[in-house]
Amino acid sequence: MTQRVAYVTGGSRGIGAAIAKSLAQDGYDIAISYARNEQAAQKTVDEVKALGRRAMAIRCDGEGSGNRAAIQRVVAGMGRIDALVCNAGIYPYGDVTEMTDTQVDAVLGLNVRAVMIETIEAARHMTQGGRIILIGSTFADRSPFPGISLYSASKSALNGFARGAARDLGPRGITINVVQPGPIDTDMNPATGAAADMLRSFMCHKEYGKVSDIASVVSFLASPQASFITGSALTTDGGLAA
Ligand code: NDP
Repeated sequence: MTQRVAYVTGGSRGIGAAIAKSLAQDGYDIAISYARNEQAAQKTVDEVKALGRRAMAIRCDGEGSGNRAAIQRVVAGMGRIDALVCNAGIYPYGDVTEMTDTQVDAVLGLNVRAVMIETIEAARHMTQGGRIILIGSTFADRSPFPGISLYSASKSALNGFARGAARDLGPRGITINVVQPGPIDTDMNPATGAAADMLRSFMCHKEYGKVSDIASVVSFLASPQASFITGSALTTDGGLAA
């Protein structure tokens, strides 16, 4: 079988690093992007190589034209792209009346625009069996407390995009889905953080999820077994949106 290649954006830390390692265990060669943290990116690359897979890291600011070029670098460096996981994201927080134009542009740039451009470019290179997985948020469906308007809107946009793109890509045998995490213990949302107890209070499970809880869902969606799932959102949130 041809060696499959996956590209995980924001694969240096947190959920993205776990996804990169899980897909490597599944047999994918791995490319990751990162924004600033070269050391963490190198650690993911080393861990993927230790699993016997090829790996490369690409520095990418997540905005502007770098996203399309990054996909092209993956194809040039690894020979192909079979799975795209758009994971890199930011979490602007604050009252809607206090949000700045810069914050609006930043969240749309990374959480929405980059995802669209990466999908457009990656899908052009994919063949039958291609997989596109967007990391959204349970806050796309439910905003349980104030201060998350920009973030919730950016993640809701992914659902409309995935449904629409699924129509275009389905005839080519390529699936596109959104995974919607709830609270997962990472640098972005530490289980010991100031908002953690409030978030736990909204959940059915009263504990934060682990990065592996999301990586396992992504691994499933990236597998041949998930070929009949497309245009869907898989909420993986400990029941926060229940
Ligand atoms: P982290 O903040 O822990 O990690 C973010 C990753 O994205 C890092 O690899 C970082 O790279 C990279 N990154 C940040 N900014 C950019 C940029 N401008 N361009 C490219 N890469 C960038 O986040 P999480 O692992 O917690 O979150 C991952 C995804 O999951 C996000 O989309 C987030 O919205 C979503 N999510 C997370 C939840 C949670 O509770 N943790 C809940 C719901 C959704 P570097 O190391 O170089 O900084």
